[in-house]
Formats: sequence, C-alpha cells, structure tokens
Amino acid sequence: MKGVVAIIPIGSVQKAFCREVGQIVSDVLDREVEILPEMAQPQYAFNPERGQYHSTSIVRRVGQAINRRKHCLGVGITEVDLFMPDLNFVFGEADRHERALVISLARLMPTYYGNAPDHARMMRRAVAETLHEIGHVLCLTHCQNESCAMFFSNTLSDTDRKRSSYCDPCRERIRKEADF
Ligand SMILES: [Zn+2]
Ligand SMILES: [Zn+2]
Repeated sequence: MKGVVAIIPIGSVQKAFCREVGQIVSDVLDREVEILPEMAQPQYAFNPERGQYHSTSIVRRVGQAINRRKHCLGVGITEVDLFMPDLNFVFGEADRHERALVISLARLMPTYYGNAPDHARMMRRAVAETLHEIGHVLCLTHCQNESCAMFFSNTLSDTDRKRSSYCDPCRERIRKEADF
C-alpha cells in the first residue's frame, strides 16, 4: 500500500498554498497528498524570551493530529518563526518516530529580508524544505550533493541551490528502505 502525505496548515497559512506545495510533493514522491483541517496558531510553543516558537512541541501536535495513521506522514506548515534550543532558528524539524514534521515559512519569505514578495521563489523554498524534512521522516540523513533536497541548509542560499527533488542515491534509498 502506498503512503499518504497529510498536510496541515497551521495558523494563518493558506490552504491554497498548502495545496500547491502538496501537488509538487505528490509528483516528486508519487504519493497521494491530503490537506487536513487547519490547526490554530501554536501559542503553546511560544517562548516569550526568544519571541519564537519551539518546533519540537509543534511536531508533536502534528504527530497527534495524524494519530499514527498507517502509512501516513504529517506535514505541518506554519508562518511563525521556529527555534530549537542551541540554534538561533530552524527552517523545520522532523521526528521519525512521530512520522511528523513542521516547516516554517517565516524565513523563506523574500519580505523577511526586505525584498519584494515572490511567490515562485517562496514556493520553491517551501517545497525544498518540505522534501528535506520528509526525507528525514522516511529514512534519509543529510546528503553532500548540494542540489539534492537532503543537503543541509545553513542559510537561505543553500536552500536556493537545491532542486525540488532528491538526487538518485537518496531516491533509491527511499525506495528500498522507507516503509511508505
Ligand atoms: Zn536536515
Ligand atoms: Zn541526495
């Protein structure tokens, strides 16, 4: 049985945006994508000292939302800025055990850096980060190929070098090892 990618808009993220990400992810992975009802703004994860949101608690909620549904993988998409302890920020976080992940659009938006809005660029970045975290949930570690979605993004220019897909060896590992 083939798996399903369940995308959950969090807070103010538009369903239409999620559907567009979902369509590309569906093509890359050859899996069905569903858009689930949105989740409220993650106030439970807010850290007032940092003014950011703790990604790990959000991933846990995304995991609960898909509730260990068989062959399902949960993708939360939020606009709030995420952090993990010891890191200034994260673009996203994945948890293999929960089969869930979250990505943040906050630092993918050209407007965050004072540039004009650019939907196509924003979409490419969101897809690259979503595929990256999905790769972690499925079985993959970081890849040395800088055009592969599994390359580690330290900065946004790393993200911009990635293609919206996995390299052949990563793709092959998903095929062989991922129970999905
Ligand atoms: Zn990673
Ligand atoms: Zn790769």
